Amino acid sequence: MPDFKHVKIPKGDVVTVQKGKPVVGDRPVIGSLRGDGIGLDITPVMKKVVGAAVKKAYGGKREIQWCPLYAGLEGLHHYGKVLPQETVEAIQYLKVAIKGPFTTPIGEETHVCLSCAHQQYHGGTCDDCGKTDTVTERFRSINVGLRQAMDLYACIRPIMYFDGVPAPNKYADQVNFMIFRENTEDVYAGHDFERGSEVARAIIDLVKERTGKQIREDSGIGVKPISVTGTKRLVRMACQWAIQHDLPSVTLVHKGNIMKFTEGSFAKWGYEVATEEFGDRFVTEKKLWDELSGKMPKGKILIKDRIADSIFQQIQTRPGEYSVLALPNLNGDYLSDAAIALVGGLGLGPGANIGTEVALFEATHGTAPKYTGQDKVNPGSLILSAVMMLQHMGWSEAADLILDGMRRAIKDAYVTYDLARLMKAEGRKDVHEVSCSGFGEAIVQRM
Ligand code: NAD
Repeated sequence: MPDFKHVKIPKGDVVTVQKGKPVVGDRPVIGSLRGDGIGLDITPVMKKVVGAAVKKAYGGKREIQWCPLYAGLEGLHHYGKVLPQETVEAIQYLKVAIKGPFTTPIGEETHVCLSCAHQQYHGGTCDDCGKTDTVTERFRSINVGLRQAMDLYACIRPIMYFDGVPAPNKYADQVNFMIFRENTEDVYAGHDFERGSEVARAIIDLVKERTGKQIREDSGIGVKPISVTGTKRLVRMACQWAIQHDLPSVTLVHKGNIMKFTEGSFAKWGYEVATEEFGDRFVTEKKLWDELSGKMPKGKILIKDRIADSIFQQIQTRPGEYSVLALPNLNGDYLSDAAIALVGGLGLGPGANIGTEVALFEATHGTAPKYTGQDKVNPGSLILSAVMMLQHMGWSEAADLILDGMRRAIKDAYVTYDLARLMKAEGRKDVHEVSCSGFGEAIVQRM
């Protein structure tokens, strides 16, 4: 075991990975990062719900041993850093962890408060909440930092409909997607150069010299790398998911009509993975119509591609035609949030970042600082992320209990303020607005 300074590994079974699969004992040690802001409210509720489900499913034979790890405000207080190296090493050691949201500075200010997310031009006391030990210098996203430090190359987001949630889309009950977003490349790779900087000027000169094409001198420059390696490992994971879960199709989403050698290549390499690495499990749309008269053979999976702008229409007008979607980073980011809006919003959108060995599960919403500590917000996103975590660990009985409990709680309209407001606006008269912990209790009572 590595020599940790602040991390205390509880007694239990550290998860190992063999042949790409987690090996999980009856008392697995799971990393837990509380998160900033409403992480304070949702993390304990998630743990309570998971604890109750595991107990009910396995009668005390199995139990999670939570191992607190520190980043964000807790990282600052324990280590003086928002993303301590020890936290990264502990997640890598434990292999499975779950996290709440973290503050990310977005403005030009030099400092940010990790308690209320206020941004300002000095350290010391926060001008907004008045706290004296929560302000730090601005930093790059902790979420992106964690993904990059551990090469968590796939961001996976299930998008599912819960009966009773007022959803803006007429076909919301047909929505059942698993989105695989590439997490390490594309314009997120960090090659972003300010207008007039040495690198921006050099790239402008190089393009002019080699291609004769002009880029305006006063341009900022971003580089968009999309590689065979990055694409194939992501699409491979999406295809394996479709096979394991007996799903009808995998769709490669890209903007290859405009960006042939990045987005277009993503689709080309994606097809290569599906058609060359899985025997003949995958059938292309071309083959389906040219050779099979549009009739899918039993046990086969359709591999198709869609241009990015068209998929934003398709998920609204024909959501039932899509199950697994694989995308490069930027479009994956947009589509994940657009898709969750179809079924009622971020409060119920779980997520995970997966690498070769490590799996980090996460709430997909932010820190909602104005609600911190009020026991008010919806803990659904983090609870559903825990469901994904239990499935990843092979504890599907506990995962199913939580899903079932949550479905019933929502159907019975025992919901937090966000869903209560929407339900009331639809004219429902039987809405019971409950607190964050109250929603957790409503789930446990219905397991
Ligand atoms: P946010 O997600 O915190 O809030 C957006 C809106 O959704 C707000 O009205 C908020 O009150 C509501 N909301 C969010 N989560 C909710 C929940 N669980 N239940 C009910 N309502 C909820 O986004 P923001 O305000 O843009 O960002 C606040 C901070 O969070 C920023 O520092 C931002 O960078 C950070 N952030 C972090 C993550 C992450 O860690 N994954 C994601 C997004 C934003």
